[in-house]
Amino acid sequence: MPTELNFLSLLTGCFASPVAENPSVAMVEAAYRHHGIDARYINCEVSPADLREAVRGARAMGFTGFNLSIPHKVAVVEFLDQLAPSAKIIGAVNCVVIRNGRLIGENTDGQGFLVSLRTVVDPAEKDVVLFGAGGAARAIAVELALAGAASIHVVNRDPKRGRALVQLINDKTDARAELVAWDRTYHVPLSTAVVVNATSIGLYPDVNGRLDLDLDSLRPGLIVADVIPNPPRTNLIQDAEERGCITLDGLGMLVNQGVIGIRHWLGRSVDPIVMRQRLEELFYET
Ligand code: NDP
Repeated sequence: MPTELNFLSLLTGCFASPVAENPSVAMVEAAYRHHGIDARYINCEVSPADLREAVRGARAMGFTGFNLSIPHKVAVVEFLDQLAPSAKIIGAVNCVVIRNGRLIGENTDGQGFLVSLRTVVDPAEKDVVLFGAGGAARAIAVELALAGAASIHVVNRDPKRGRALVQLINDKTDARAELVAWDRTYHVPLSTAVVVNATSIGLYPDVNGRLDLDLDSLRPGLIVADVIPNPPRTNLIQDAEERGCITLDGLGMLVNQGVIGIRHWLGRSVDPIVMRQRLEELFYET
């Protein structure tokens, strides 16, 4: 007969709207199960009007931490006590860590991307082409710049949003950023080592979406990364593979930001392979 029983699980989760389609819960709980960690990850549908109360509630209920997704990544900043350095530069938080009642904002999106990228190349001194200038692109651009990328060509449809990201990189980091207005078919320059799609082109249900990109400028050996997690095999990934490029799909970024989040919350290093397998089961077998 055990003398001590503990029925209090550690609480983590995700606040977003809509949240039902967010698969993080499946991969994070797969890691918790695999490692025998007594923790839960709960998707919570939180409207913008309720975000402040949700954050207060998480602290009151003893959450260890939580993720933020659309549309809360910027809005949550004003409810936090402290920001990690890259989150401060990016101006957005996707992961909150609660320590001794203090709320610390991290941005693990770009960090997760970087872990995935480093499996094939070190971005230091490299020229990067980055499609997009929204939240994911900002996080990726800042982390690439902090990792020592030489230059980042930001290719974006809306020049205003693109200009804001270019200015951020040039003002706050040592990397050199340049805006390319995306109003015609883009040709990847020969000096480019890494191409990143950080737009939402290709995301379900727009699965047939294609970047306005000259596919003949994708040369063999070029590294092509897509952030789209669903479906992971986007047209960009398939087109790049056909041309002999080295490809990274959006599951790598998703899994690794999850690994980093769990490390922040629980101080545990979990197995990314278990998390990726769970996502692959969901995306390929349903
Ligand atoms: P935002 O809405 O902040 O930004 C969207 C970006 O996509 C903008 O740059 C926008 O350009 C561009 N875009 C959208 N549609 C088109 C189009 N038809 N033609 C050209 N440009 C287009 O979204 P996020 O940055 O938050 O998310 C972007 C993607 O990243 C999403 O698909 C999301 O699922 C994915 N993501 C993946 C993660 C992962 O872990 N794998 C983590 C976070 C996000 P414009 O400025 O001109 O409107």
